[in-house]
Amino acid sequence: MRFEPVGATGAQFIFKVYGQGKPFLLYRSGRVAEALAKPHDQAFLDRILTRVRIDNASGCWLWQGSTVNFGYGQISTKRGQSPMRTHAAMWFALYGERPSKDGLFVCHSCDVPGCCNPEHLWVGTAAQNNADRDQKGRHPHVNMTHCFRGHEFTPENSILNKTSGARTCRICYNAFFRRRNEAKRIAEGRSRRADLLTPEIKLEVYRLRSQGLSAPKIATLLRITKAQIHYLNHARKRRDKKRAKDAELRRAKV
Ligand SMILES: [Zn+2]
Ligand SMILES: [Zn+2]
Repeated sequence: MRFEPVGATGAQFIFKVYGQGKPFLLYRSGRVAEALAKPHDQAFLDRILTRVRIDNASGCWLWQGSTVNFGYGQISTKRGQSPMRTHAAMWFALYGERPSKDGLFVCHSCDVPGCCNPEHLWVGTAAQNNADRDQKGRHPHVNMTHCFRGHEFTPENSILNKTSGARTCRICYNAFFRRRNEAKRIAEGRSRRADLLTPEIKLEVYRLRSQGLSAPKIATLLRITKAQIHYLNHARKRRDKKRAKDAELRRAKV
């Protein structure tokens, strides 16, 4: 693909387009046409355009070269420098601006990652880009049926983001906070997990308990938490219950 400025009528620029079937004339006005006629970096623009095919239905300029995640085109720049995304490269070739330097993004109005039609590009902040995506219902989580760990997004298991339509897995969300709180408790030495206790301490707890000492007293005595003692008590109760039940089953069998 190559654009050759062949003239202008009033506000309109006329380009002769080569490279896709018969050469044809393109009439364009506005900032994009102005930049195409007088780009910041003609050589770079030519390099991008050689690997572009115009999609007649959408008007997208589809990148035919190598792509990276999600279908963004990439084009090499200087030796030793990382390649540029083609839509950002197009912006630079035309206007000499690299919005990413100011923390801004070159965004697609057409939502085609591989498109580098400058008329489909706009510059915005990350928030604007995300808002645009959400408004179009294109948040990547919208169409997921299962979370990353395989839990299904049933209505009960979904935490819905009302603006974006994105869902969060309730099981994973809760598990995350449970893990984080537990890690915090362990770090602060007030974990409820009884399995952090050594067997000696466990035996000591049982012994003191059988002597009729209260849980808070044992906790201060052994420098463990009340919660751990309660957990141990319950564990013992559960174990005794299970043993009794098993014994009953055995008796019933005989
Ligand atoms: Zn496009
Ligand atoms: Zn999940």
